[in-house]
Amino acid sequence: MSTVEIKDLHKSFGSLEVLKGIDFTVETGQVVCVIGPSGSGKSTLLRCVNLLEQPTSGRVVVEGIELTDPDVDIDAARRRLGMVFQQFNLFPHLTVVRNIMIAQERVLKRKRAEAERIARENLEKVGLLEKADAYPAQLSGGQQQRVAIARALAMNPTLMLFDEPTSALDPELVGDVLGVMRQLAEDGMTMLVVTHEMAFAREVADRVVFMDQGVIVEDGPPQQVIGDPQHERTREFLRRVL
Ligand code: ADP
Ligand code: MG
Repeated sequence: MSTVEIKDLHKSFGSLEVLKGIDFTVETGQVVCVIGPSGSGKSTLLRCVNLLEQPTSGRVVVEGIELTDPDVDIDAARRRLGMVFQQFNLFPHLTVVRNIMIAQERVLKRKRAEAERIARENLEKVGLLEKADAYPAQLSGGQQQRVAIARALAMNPTLMLFDEPTSALDPELVGDVLGVMRQLAEDGMTMLVVTHEMAFAREVADRVVFMDQGVIVEDGPPQQVIGDPQHERTREFLRRVL
């Protein structure tokens, strides 16, 4: 069973065609890493998967629900997707635990006590239970990103989307965030991850997708796409990032 199916996805901004016919699937429980140069359309692809962007044409199916069907309840479908961005976007005036509770209460209508219990469970999962009552500004960037992951997990997503989650972090803070993501993968979470962390992609991904200029150039297991790329464009990209 596949969690995500993307068929012939196109996205243009005005006359700029950013996605030029993307096809791929993420099977349930798989981790797929998307790599590629800046400007190749990776963020746009993720934003089309959760319909932060409306595709120009093509199909996006998540757990059998066609998000590109005009009659679909987008908010209900989107609730199944967790999204973690480069910027953590925590509310600065709320404590860590409140940050994780607020969408549970407002969107899922969970009672306060239940939301707090689930918030603390997820803080424990990302190794930050002792920071529950701190404010975001009192945390390092890596800790804030782990809170953002806990916040997404508290919504019980069936798919987690990550867009360069470690790119804004100081190098010494990257490892803890990748460690949490690795644990999530081991626990069986379905994940679509845009990243420049080639070691993570090589070790954790079931598949690596290399994108360039709005098309998928290579899609396969990491030992193939990273270890033995078939296309010159992939080889050139890897020479620059490895
Ligand atoms: P990547 O994440 O691979 O760096 P993006 O998906 O962010 O690439 O961007 C791909 C291209 O689409 C870039 O040329 C970017 O300028 C353009 N683009 C992205 N979002 C918009 C937008 N909202 N309006 C216009 N152009 C955009
Ligand atoms: Mg991007």
